[in-house]
Amino acid sequence: MEPSKAILRKVGEAIRRFKMIRDGDRVAVALSGGKDSLTLLETLLALSRKAPIEFSVAAFTIEQGKFLRPIEPLGEYLRSRGVDWTYFHDVPSHRLLAEKPDHGCDLCSRYRRRAVYEVAKGLGANVIAFGHTADDFCEALLRNAMFTGKLSALPAVTHSRDGEFRLIRPLVFVTEDLTTQFAGSLGAPVIPCGCSQRTGTVRRSLRDLFSSLEGDYPHLKENLLSAMGNLDPSRLLDPRYLDSDRAPALEPELFPILSE
Ligand code: SF4
Repeated sequence: MEPSKAILRKVGEAIRRFKMIRDGDRVAVALSGGKDSLTLLETLLALSRKAPIEFSVAAFTIEQGKFLRPIEPLGEYLRSRGVDWTYFHDVPSHRLLAEKPDHGCDLCSRYRRRAVYEVAKGLGANVIAFGHTADDFCEALLRNAMFTGKLSALPAVTHSRDGEFRLIRPLVFVTEDLTTQFAGSLGAPVIPCGCSQRTGTVRRSLRDLFSSLEGDYPHLKENLLSAMGNLDPSRLLDPRYLDSDRAPALEPELFPILSE
């Protein structure tokens, strides 16, 4: 079954706008076992059959000892679809889990990154695709602004430090209501990660905030995504982007506030 037209259109738009995939690329999709990366894989497979450029798609999963169910049903599903899938058991991550069971995300993702590059290299890929969605971009924007004092979200396209891989997030415009719907319709096994069940995290609080607001403001995430692509630096406070000689005159109603 193909992803919905909405998903294909949004992923196509992201690929075009950010020049994510180019002729001759070999794309390795990082499959986490969840609905988002599975949607990403199926979408890239569908696009690779229709796109005017030629690119190939492979998939891989890094086992870090955190899956809550056996991964084999996912393997069976992928094999039945003829997907070139590599399942990589990362020994250092398992050692880390045994020695420091409460390690944080920074350490875990550092181990994962190293394994991801190793596997992608073995697959002959020059592009690695991750399943971060529009929801992840919006949460990252709020989290960074509120907790790290930085106005940033996630990179839609970036490169590994040595420049060997282009790292892409083609689901940037796809919200999770669409991935949930599509993955559900596939009937594919979704393998949850232990961390996805955590409560009391900032991520969980932001998700709850969005769902409480979205009843009244259904286009909240679309608006946040538009905002990320439509900066007005003159109304922010970073002097690197301000031309103080050409700063617009203050609006009169602001004077009382400024003089308080
Ligand atoms: S949420 Fe869990 S799996 Fe994800 S980076 Fe953090 S520790 Fe690792």
